[in-house]
Amino acid sequence: MTRKQRFEHVIAYFEEAMPDPETELLYDNTYQLLVAVILSAQCTDKRVNMHTPALFERYPDIPSLAAAQYDDVFDLVKSISFPGNKTRHLLGMAKMVQENFGGEIPMTVDELVKLPGVGRKTANVITSVVDNQPNMAVDTHVFRVSARLGLTVRAKTPLETEKQLIKWVPRDLVYKFHHWLILHGRYVCVARKPKCGECGLRPVCPYFQKVVSKQVC
Ligand code: SF4
Repeated sequence: MTRKQRFEHVIAYFEEAMPDPETELLYDNTYQLLVAVILSAQCTDKRVNMHTPALFERYPDIPSLAAAQYDDVFDLVKSISFPGNKTRHLLGMAKMVQENFGGEIPMTVDELVKLPGVGRKTANVITSVVDNQPNMAVDTHVFRVSARLGLTVRAKTPLETEKQLIKWVPRDLVYKFHHWLILHGRYVCVARKPKCGECGLRPVCPYFQKVVSKQVC
């Protein structure tokens, strides 16, 4: 199977199995998505979703968050991992958007990564979800599942994975593709013991053929 055929097969499978994949983070607008993605670093979406409604009610926009006090924000996110750093990131992000970007969240990766708490992955999520830009956010699930399925070859860093995926995934499917791999990695192709028995990609999965099937035998 060529790489092109592999991508076509995987895309066809997910189009059928998950036609409308979405982030599991709850948000209503760009500001809320940015805050939720910053908070989700090394934390589950479920836990972030438990705390963002109160945060958004108290601080509904960039100006209110920029004017917030550290202790008040900390109190609202203290059950999320790394609350101190994330509080600093949220306050710094809001202040920088106010002071450097006229209060508008910028919509290029180069500008977004200047904001505290925003790395390349977050910038790719924001620009692809909000603005449909063909930017592939690579998290641990995307990195692992891509490699197992043979969609990436010897990629050693998230950036290498991103570059390889972006070559093959049609521009209009980049956003979906990111979510397909995240959801597949979160619920089926899990890190320690992938649930290959319930995975429809088994027939084309090199990891299953080379590693898992041999363990079963
Ligand atoms: S067959 Fe197994 S290893 Fe391959 S994608 Fe499916 S769950 Fe992951």
